[in-house]
Formats: sequence, structure tokens, C-alpha cells
Amino acid sequence: MPRPIQATLDINALRHNLAQIKASVPDALVWAVVKANAYGHGIDQVFEGLRAADGFALLDLSEAERLRQLGWRGPILLLEGAFETRDLEHCSRLNLWHVVHSEAQIDMLAVHKTHQPHRIFLKMNTGMNRLGFVPQAFRAAWTRLNALPQVDEISLMTHFSDADGDKGIEAALRIFAEFTHDLSGERSLSNSAAALRHGKALNVRADWVRPGIALYGSSPDYPVNSAAAWHLKPVMSLNAAIIGIQHLQAGDSVGYGSTFVADRAMRIGVVACGYADGYPRSAPSGTPIGVDGVRTQTVGRVSMDMITVDITDLPQAGLGSEVTLWGLPQQASSASLESACISIDEVALSAGTVGYELMCGLSSRVPVNVLT
Ligand SMILES: *Cc1c(COP(=O)(O)O)cnc(C)c1O
Repeated sequence: MPRPIQATLDINALRHNLAQIKASVPDALVWAVVKANAYGHGIDQVFEGLRAADGFALLDLSEAERLRQLGWRGPILLLEGAFETRDLEHCSRLNLWHVVHSEAQIDMLAVHKTHQPHRIFLKMNTGMNRLGFVPQAFRAAWTRLNALPQVDEISLMTHFSDADGDKGIEAALRIFAEFTHDLSGERSLSNSAAALRHGKALNVRADWVRPGIALYGSSPDYPVNSAAAWHLKPVMSLNAAIIGIQHLQAGDSVGYGSTFVADRAMRIGVVACGYADGYPRSAPSGTPIGVDGVRTQTVGRVSMDMITVDITDLPQAGLGSEVTLWGLPQQASSASLESACISIDEVALSAGTVGYELMCGLSSRVPVNVLT
């Protein structure tokens, strides 16, 4: 028997989440963001579930190539554009649209030989201060690009630093509007948080939205809003089983470093999942976890291959009981789905991180079952 751990991907949940996002920005076209191997879910696995998107956005040429092999003929956008001149040959060959965020990328385009002019998304830095032209340099970049025979249409984009938080997007929006108002071209502004939180504002909706995390059923602004509150369904579930039981007396400890000490008699389940599977080592005692569809807590340190969980109040639980690290138990009936769900966001919050990191970090040793 293989080690009892499995990730499950629910492709219908992906379809549902995409439809949900589309409904929140009804006039916009949707880039499904599938960078980082579709946030750890796998390009091949998510492709069918995201076919209703208007395009795919990602960073790696190999992933763009894979989408073309899978039969996608629609738009593909490289969110960081070209890293070297040769990348542009692949853009021409695969018909990829690409971001231009620097003078160096315009230099590359200027010497690129292509029969077919490229579709460009010109990026403005509106306060994130990672990639993009500062507002004052944006027009000059646009003018330079527009004069190049290698360039077809130019769309205008930015990426918000604070769409998920209190600061919000007003200041960034104002800057973007001020420095682009008389430039033609489609607009692309919003990630998941901006589309869901601010999608009612017309100028945020723009032409293309770029949701990533919400597609996969994680909330972009947890704990302010949960995924359920956004009507998103978890796509990835991680389940394992109890492979050992320990009976503790008051004063006994569990795991490396004896960080957890029982203050009463306790029953502990040992779970076949550890940080080598992608469960965060930083998750402290008390992190929510499901056993046979019932919510309980982890105890002690996460080790490489195991976690320990409190089953004192779950007398039915024992060897072989199903453990839900995040998402839904495999055995859940639809009636109990809501209560049995351990959202990836609550596990992430407990571990001091975000759902993005947990999804992206699912280990390659975990077998994946795809529900289509
Ligand atoms: C990753 C990324 C997105 C998607 O962000 P989410 O928070 O996952 O919705 C959108 N735009 C750009 C430029 C990105 O890099």
C-alpha cells in the first residue's frame, strides 16, 4: 500500500470559481493566471477547468508552450515579459503577448526580427515598486514602443500593491488614470482582490482582469473575507490518514523539542503528512485540522513526514481515520461539506503565511487525484 496521503483537485470547483469571478466583473475579459504551474495545481490538470477563460497569463515559456501543446489557441500573456532577446523568438513562434516593464525590454524588441508584430502590455509602476515604468516615464515608453515595426497593439497595465488591504487601490488608480487618460489601448488592472473587492467600480473592471488565487478557491483577503463568503470552492484538498495512536498522561510531551505538553490525559493521532509533503513546519500547536470530517487541532511540532493531532474528544477516530490537512475530506457528503472544510486560508494564517504559498508548495511526492 502506498503511504496514505493524497491531494485531490476538483476541476468543477475551478469552473465554478471562474464563473463566480466572471459574474463579479461581467464586462471584463479574464486572464486565468496559471503561473507557478497553476499555483501548484499543474497546468495540465487545470487546463480543462479554465477553458472558459479568455486567456492564460503566466511567466514561464515552458508553461506557455505546454498550453499550446494542449491545444489552446487563444491569448497567452507573459506577465514578466522577455528575460533575454531570444525569448522574443519564442513569443513570435508561439504567438505570445508579453508585458514590457523596462527600457531593456524595449531595446530587445527594437532588434528583434519578426514577421508578425507583437501584442504588448505596457506596465506602469503605481506604487508596488517592483516592475514597471514610473508614471512620468510611461508616455515616453509608449511612444518609443509605438514607433517600432515589431509592435502591434499596446495595452496598458498596472498591478496593485494593496488591493487586499485597508490602503486600497484609490491612489494607484488615480495615478494610472492621470498618466494614461489620453493613451489608447485596452486596460488591465485587477488581480483577484481588486476584481472581487473593487469590481463594482467601472474603472477597476477595465478590459482585462487577472485573477489567480480566487480561481483556486482561496480568498485574496482572508481573514477579512473567507473563500466561502466570496462563494469560492476549494480546488485543492490534502488528505492523509492516521498511522499511529499515542495515549498521553498529564505532563507527557509530543514530538521534537517537547514543545507540546499535555495538561490532562490525551489521545493523539499520528498523521502521515509532514513538511516534506508541503505542510508548513511553521504551523503551531492548535492549527485546525479535520479527522473523519470533524474539526480538531494539531499538537506539537510538524516533522518531516508526520504531524500529531488531538483526538481525545473523537472516540471513533483511530488507525486509518481520514485526516484533512486542508480542503475537503474525500468521504464528505455534500450535506456536511461546509462544516467539514478546513480552508487552506485558516491553515495558512495559523502558520503565518498565505494560501498561495501552501498551494505552490505541495510536494511532488504527494500523489494527485483529479476529479473531472
Ligand atoms: C500573480 C499575478 C496576478 C494574480 O494575482 P492573484 O492575487 O493571485 O489574483 C495578477 N497580476 C500579476 C501581474 C501577477 O503577477
